[in-house]
Amino acid sequence: MQLVRQTDEKVAERQRRQLRHPGPRTRAVAAVLLIAALGSACAAGSEGRGGAGRTGDGGGGGGGPVESASGEPGRAGPGTGAEAVKKADAAAAVKAQALRAVAAKKWKLAKTPLAAPAPPAVKPKIATRKGFEVTGGASLPPVFTNVPTKEKVVFLTIDDGAEKDPELLRMMDELKIPYSAFLSDYVINDNYAYFKKMQARGVSLHNHTLTHPYLPGLSYEEQKREICGQQDKIKKQYGKRPELFRPPFGNYNAGTLRAAKSCGVKAVPLWSSEAFPDHMEWREWDRDLHPGDIVLTHFRGKEDWKGSMPDMIRHVMKTITDKGYAVAKLEDYV
Ligand SMILES: [Zn+2]
Repeated sequence: MQLVRQTDEKVAERQRRQLRHPGPRTRAVAAVLLIAALGSACAAGSEGRGGAGRTGDGGGGGGGPVESASGEPGRAGPGTGAEAVKKADAAAAVKAQALRAVAAKKWKLAKTPLAAPAPPAVKPKIATRKGFEVTGGASLPPVFTNVPTKEKVVFLTIDDGAEKDPELLRMMDELKIPYSAFLSDYVINDNYAYFKKMQARGVSLHNHTLTHPYLPGLSYEEQKREICGQQDKIKKQYGKRPELFRPPFGNYNAGTLRAAKSCGVKAVPLWSSEAFPDHMEWREWDRDLHPGDIVLTHFRGKEDWKGSMPDMIRHVMKTITDKGYAVAKLEDYV
């Protein structure tokens, strides 16, 4: 389990740092208009399912982007209901991807992110990665770096929570790129509201402990306080007890998994590559992406690494898209 190690050595330093207040930003009128257009056209797909170009669940949207279906009554004759729905879905997919292309241009992405395929009807069975087992682990939450799938999808996960850049919320919402947040209380408790906004945009919030300690160095009771304490905090702030937990630095022992299980954790996703604003750090021997890979990155700002959160997204999305992958929503698979 030494394969995977988080490189957030600056975490402790960040704890003492005040939240930066982003300076005034100028926005072109065109951008505002674009947001309005995206908001009205894609509202149906933006919640819960992570969007990502999916259109099959358009049923939740009422209205939404499929008005063309009702605009062509002649095409949806009697007995062709399923056909009409399929057609409407396809039209909505094309429209969603066209809107994403506009957003990609606005946010200066090198390429338009690919649309993810529909999520699996049944979630895959996930086992602990070979070499990552602990004694007595058979009944404990699985620890893994990759989700079993043949689809060319990867999952984007963002850790800690120190940097709270409003641009990230807008960017990901407009691009319809799903991601999952693994939050540590000590860096988010100065601004819980930021992550509330994130949650309202369909992002699931998960557990990354109260204070980001090296868990194997703690007693079982101390680990339980760190993990279950954060379960309680997230439930209190955001109304939902997380099912996913990621140990700080990727370090854990059997006690960690027992403690996590005791307070409702179902799975422990680690990662197989890590994204930065200017490079990727690969954890697999072939230094590449694979179907189902979990990509780690962090909520960090310009004082931590060479760029902003949008810079990091631009870089990781170029890597992912160039390699022919789409970003899917982790919670659809795990
Ligand atoms: Zn962390």
